[in-house]
Amino acid sequence: MTNNRIRALGLLLTVLLMVSGACAPPPEPEKAMTIIPDVSDRLAQFALTAVDTDLSRLSETERQVLDKLIEAGKHLDRAFLLQAWPENPAFRERLAAREGDLVQAALSYFDVMYGPWDRLSHRETFVGDHPHPPGAGFYPEDLTRDELESYIEAHPDEEEALMSWYTVIRREGERLATTPYSEVYREELEPAAAVLREAAELTDNESLRDFLQKRADAFLSDDYYESEKAWMDLESRIEVTIGPYEVYEDELLGQKTAFEAFITVNDPAASAALDRFKNLLPEMEIHLPIPDELKTTRGTESPIRVVDLVFAGGDTRAGVQTIAYNLPNDERIRSEKGSKMVMLRNVMKAKFESIMVRVAGEVMDASQTDLLSAEAFFQETVFHELSHGLGPAYVTGSDQKEVREALQELYSAMEEAKADVTGAYNILYMVDREEFPSTFRNELLATYFAGLFRSVRFGTGEAHGKGAALQLNYYLDREVARAGEDGKFTVDLPALEEAIRDLVREICLIQAAGDKEKAAALLDQHGKITPRIQQTLDRLESVPVDIRPVYTAAGETMLR
Ligand code: ZN
Repeated sequence: MTNNRIRALGLLLTVLLMVSGACAPPPEPEKAMTIIPDVSDRLAQFALTAVDTDLSRLSETERQVLDKLIEAGKHLDRAFLLQAWPENPAFRERLAAREGDLVQAALSYFDVMYGPWDRLSHRETFVGDHPHPPGAGFYPEDLTRDELESYIEAHPDEEEALMSWYTVIRREGERLATTPYSEVYREELEPAAAVLREAAELTDNESLRDFLQKRADAFLSDDYYESEKAWMDLESRIEVTIGPYEVYEDELLGQKTAFEAFITVNDPAASAALDRFKNLLPEMEIHLPIPDELKTTRGTESPIRVVDLVFAGGDTRAGVQTIAYNLPNDERIRSEKGSKMVMLRNVMKAKFESIMVRVAGEVMDASQTDLLSAEAFFQETVFHELSHGLGPAYVTGSDQKEVREALQELYSAMEEAKADVTGAYNILYMVDREEFPSTFRNELLATYFAGLFRSVRFGTGEAHGKGAALQLNYYLDREVARAGEDGKFTVDLPALEEAIRDLVREICLIQAAGDKEKAAALLDQHGKITPRIQQTLDRLESVPVDIRPVYTAAGETMLR
């Protein structure tokens, strides 16, 4: 992520080599445990932030259900720590037995990263000397993709088990043996299933009971299909997402799923408001500033939930925190029942207050910082997600050739830029339609502009960061914002609005034409960190990159 994080390993400092308690039984050799000297700076990139949820409107029974679900979430949190690296718990214990400020910071950073590798810095080892295994704890550490592929070629009948989303692979002599998650992580999954069943008995919500029972079964059978369907049908004040979902932790094959839990409370009124916007998607498509023959209609059956997060554990809590997600990933369910979009409102609010406000303070002229709005930041995220479903999906005149295929490796950055700028464009359209008050127009424009500096910090090696750079440079080249002597920008808001419309058109036309050359030209010209942007980013050095959440409604305290 930030260049200054990538430090030469030569700077490593050796500290506290001795295992304390010389007569302790395990005859383990005394091992060096080196800690990278800037670990406190790394930790400071994450602002310790309370993420709270108002539970006062829940019934006594709902609160009891919530407590059970939090307990289940903690089991999955521990299961994920083992998935990331089976040595993690023992390693953490050895680290915790040492003393000193550096050790304390390393321990906290270990908890943020769920292991001794820095997720913000290409998995660089920050404590100890063990390099990160690309296959995390899912495979033998020395297994390569090539070896696995040739093994499968020689043993085609084992392919299904080897490539399963829910198995771990280990060496047994010459063999690559598979064991299902239900066995490998039994110590966590059995009690997790038990508390899910207890919660199912307590709740009077039929759809929640159905999901919890089926998910408890799945933890023990490794068959998640029925419970994924039940999750799509969940209509409950308590909205829970718990299980093995994303495959990013598996950097070897992108095949093995990681455990995570989001225990949340749904806000039915806010969810209904978003349903209304979803129903307006066809009108937003018609309103796009492109020729009518390029406009399409896409299905939008997916439900949306606005929730407040009470507790998060596992994969989602490692490193940078999730603010929205779209599940399940199983294509069978997606084609049968669609997918569900969940917006984590209180996490967005926490990020807004801990990071966005400080970014804007460094980026925007003081005369415009009052326009910054948490609501605009939230709606930007909502409309970003909605706008992925707008604009050309297929190349015009081709026989169903997807834009994705035509633009290839340039697709993601173009698509993320499109979702951002079309999101802003559509919110302005909703202001025109009086879905938002007229004062929201300038709040949105200022918050959107400042928000691009937050996104561009993720770097242009990544689609969202590159997309943000594209937008920023496009606007700065058109001089819709001018830097004062202190380097802070004053935005010409009407000019920005015009530029937004033009950029929506430019990106959509390139997508419709499937014109990779034009996409490359646009990205070459704008999708980079120019000296002008770098100057501004330098001033953001001390602003945290993300939050370190403390879930107060789940009983967590700030004393960590
Ligand atoms: Zn996106």
